[in-house]
Amino acid sequence: MKIARLLLIAPFLLTASLRAQIEPRAALVEPAAWAALDAGQARTAAEGFRDALAADPKNPRLHLGAGLAASLERRDADARSEFERALDLDPKLAQARALLGQLQYRMGDRLLAVRTYETLVAMVPDDREARATLERWQREADLHDRMQQAVGSHFTVSFEGPAEAALAAEALEMLDRAYWRIGQLLGTYPSDPIGVVLYTGEQFRDITRAPSWAAGAYDGVIRLPMRGALDRREELDRVLSHEFTHALIRTLAARGVPAWLNEGLATALETGTLDWADKQTASHPPVPLRVLQSGFGRFSGAQAQLAYATSALAARRLLDEAGGFAVANLLRDLGEGIAFDAAFLHRIQRPFADFASNH
Ligand SMILES: [Zn+2]
Repeated sequence: MKIARLLLIAPFLLTASLRAQIEPRAALVEPAAWAALDAGQARTAAEGFRDALAADPKNPRLHLGAGLAASLERRDADARSEFERALDLDPKLAQARALLGQLQYRMGDRLLAVRTYETLVAMVPDDREARATLERWQREADLHDRMQQAVGSHFTVSFEGPAEAALAAEALEMLDRAYWRIGQLLGTYPSDPIGVVLYTGEQFRDITRAPSWAAGAYDGVIRLPMRGALDRREELDRVLSHEFTHALIRTLAARGVPAWLNEGLATALETGTLDWADKQTASHPPVPLRVLQSGFGRFSGAQAQLAYATSALAARRLLDEAGGFAVANLLRDLGEGIAFDAAFLHRIQRPFADFASNH
């Protein structure tokens, strides 16, 4: 699972005074940069805003645009400094403040994100979505204040009360096993400790806003609803290894990984067999991998199952054919911004179209 995308903002409504300040060259380049952003062409947009900023470096909207382009490219630190610069130049630029808060949250600065949104909500009290987000983040912060932690060498598990302490200890052991098993397979061992939070089912829905079929989520932190986890240890083990794989993939590639590969690896590397996936795909027409580029959160339960099954079988075939080290190198290339088809051909030694038509 993934967190919601940053909201995209259309380039409309330049104020007259702002328009008058814009240098002629920046004014020429800027519309094309916004159009590129709208079309999802992050790199073209980033170049456009850079050119425009060279001519007009104190234009807050250009910094806003540069920040949006950077966040589309998952250059989070660059995006943050662009939004901060935009706000230095124009503290009333609510869009920049909203985006800065989202980014701080995504980067793990949860308290800072809450403060940014407090300012935002004070500035635009009618923005109901901003208020709802702030309230959700505040509930999350309150909950985490109450939580205790079990600390292992690679993971930190947070949980709410003494009733969950035994479960947290068990989760740590399962996570450690996943760490070594999956790390060895991909030849990579994350060095920074990974945060894990155990929630009640209700808290999980509230904080992650995951679809009802989701058994876990990863957004920089592994989040799990406990449901009846104590009675279903196999299920807990399965979900923990799935979410750990997402965390490991993030350390190799913070961006550029298609959903079928991300979810496919996470599912293929779960404990347990993929017999269920074979059954799923046997009774349905095949889903082309190209259709499974973006997150599965939009799917219904049945559609999601088929998407996970298709992706898991493709990932397993990739691991069998090319090996874990090649797959890890493919992920590294994607994280560095190399185009998918070129990276795939180089690392897997066959064209993606060829691999994809073979399932
Ligand atoms: Zn997943």
